[in-house]
Amino acid sequence: MEETRDESKIKSSGNIKTITKKIIEFRDLRDWKQFHHPKDLAIGLSIEVGEILEHFRFKTNDEIKEYLKNSDDKKKLSHELADTLYFLLTLANETEINISKALHEKLEIIEKKYPIEKCKGKPHKYTHYEK
Ligand SMILES: [Mg+2]
Repeated sequence: MEETRDESKIKSSGNIKTITKKIIEFRDLRDWKQFHHPKDLAIGLSIEVGEILEHFRFKTNDEIKEYLKNSDDKKKLSHELADTLYFLLTLANETEINISKALHEKLEIIEKKYPIEKCKGKPHKYTHYEK
């Protein structure tokens, strides 16, 4: 069955709260909460990040650019990113961390650590700019 434009739009959007709700529904319908302890979710997150890295391993930046021009390869990478988001949002949910709030807080912290006038266009760790 072909997907309508509206259905496609719904599937490709959503805020963090909506996506988390969908993930938790998916999880609970399968009775997987029993396996979703923070440690296991963190391990799952780490494994999925590793699966992202598999797409880039042994490739130069130019080779990665070429690799991502192939829609099948890009689709596979997109699914690994989605797996990572799945575990990240489930971990945030299980630890009762508001990930949106945490992200905003963290951005405020790193804005202070990395003042634009000192670090623009430079790759150093914040301690470099404290000197
Ligand atoms: Mg995966």
